[in-house]
Amino acid sequence: MINLYNTLTRKKEIFKPMNGNRVKMFVCGPTVYDNSHIGHARTYISFDVIVRYLKYRGFTVFYLQNITDIDDKIIKRSKESGFDPLKLARQFEKKYQDCMKAMGVESVNFYARATEHLPEIIQQIQTLLEKRFAYETDKGVYFDESRFPDFGKLSNRKLEDLTVHRINPDTSKKNPGDFALWKKRKGEPVWDSPWGPGRPGWHIEDTAITEEYFGPQYDIHGGGLDLIFPHHEAEIAQMESASGKKPMVSYWMHTGFLNVKGEKMSKSLGNFITIKDLLKTHNPEVFRFFVLSTHYRSPIDFSNEILEQSQNSLKRIYKLLETIDELLESDIEESTENDLLCKQRVQETEESFLEAMDNDFNTPFALSTIFDFIREVNRYINHQEISKKSLNRSKNLIIEFGDILGFNFSQKSSDKSSENIVEDGLLEIITDVRAKLREQKDWELSDDIRNKLKNLHINLEDK
Ligand code: AMP
Repeated sequence: MINLYNTLTRKKEIFKPMNGNRVKMFVCGPTVYDNSHIGHARTYISFDVIVRYLKYRGFTVFYLQNITDIDDKIIKRSKESGFDPLKLARQFEKKYQDCMKAMGVESVNFYARATEHLPEIIQQIQTLLEKRFAYETDKGVYFDESRFPDFGKLSNRKLEDLTVHRINPDTSKKNPGDFALWKKRKGEPVWDSPWGPGRPGWHIEDTAITEEYFGPQYDIHGGGLDLIFPHHEAEIAQMESASGKKPMVSYWMHTGFLNVKGEKMSKSLGNFITIKDLLKTHNPEVFRFFVLSTHYRSPIDFSNEILEQSQNSLKRIYKLLETIDELLESDIEESTENDLLCKQRVQETEESFLEAMDNDFNTPFALSTIFDFIREVNRYINHQEISKKSLNRSKNLIIEFGDILGFNFSQKSSDKSSENIVEDGLLEIITDVRAKLREQKDWELSDDIRNKLKNLHINLEDK
């Protein structure tokens, strides 16, 4: 039985999907106006592991994520860069997908772009208007927040806290807390609607998308802590008002922030490291290990020192697996003396690991059970008290845990050592410099670089 913490009820609950073992899960995706940073990666790796574990426990999961590909930030960025906003969004969406792939985030079944769901968005706004939960002004269509007394049930925050909407007071609104469902606009990318040309508000895209694929009620909704208020509150208000059904979502799950010196890593604070930059010097598994060393709901402070500790811990796992492989290939003197004990320890370790994961996906505890086990296996090996059968059993257990957490322990660490990654990073720098030289038509120097790389058996081809 899996127990998970539900932000809505503020307690751990036994997980029971609405429909047998089929799980419908939605996590808010990125706004694609810039490169994703490692704070985003923390959230998406956490949900990746949650889905992997649900599947391991026999659930069939459909994991849906939206892509916010039209928004104020995208339009601002497009004005600054001179790029068409939708092309800009596609570019950063591609980069986001590449980063997720590199980070081993493989569990998302479908990415739904906001701009490809305009009919569903318009339909939901129409329903809200018909049911008088929304009203139209000369600026747009707004949700009438006074018609939804449950507003604030997820965050426990009150109407007065809605400063977010008050920063830019819009006098055409009935209540300061009312939020836009449709923004009437001219000039920007706009879509036709019954209220004239314009574009959707941010909150409505998610509920229109989830209603389309899941219906008005589903199992899990996730996102970072910052989205609880007002974004997720607004989602509840929209969907529960439109459908008249409660609750919209059975379990709300939120990840803690990845911080730098106690402050949330974010674009606006400028204290971010992009995923791409991190991967130039570090193996993605090291970052995954770092993320999983802290519980997904707790804040996690990023530093190179902690990343190094994660690297060392990961090396210990790979070292043991390498030792086991060597022993399995050699003519060791087999000791079957501890076979029974080893079998029992494998069982106990598996139980502790699963118990930790069942307890609201407690990955730090689950990892600690792996290290307790490694210590014991190393002791048996050092005392030559282990058989090939036990070695195989131990190896399989560690690989199985790796699969659940998203590590590929069956592949040798030497194939993905950080040295290779540094090498790849250096090569990228060299090829970038050479591309710039070629742009400046400095053929002599660019040829020189190519020839010197050739001496190192690295062939560069210009296509
Ligand atoms: P955004 O593109 O800003 O909407 O963010 C996409 C997702 O990443 C949301 O679920 C955010 O809550 C999450 N996120 C953004 N910054 C951080 C951070 N520093 N730590 C953890 N999650 C974050």
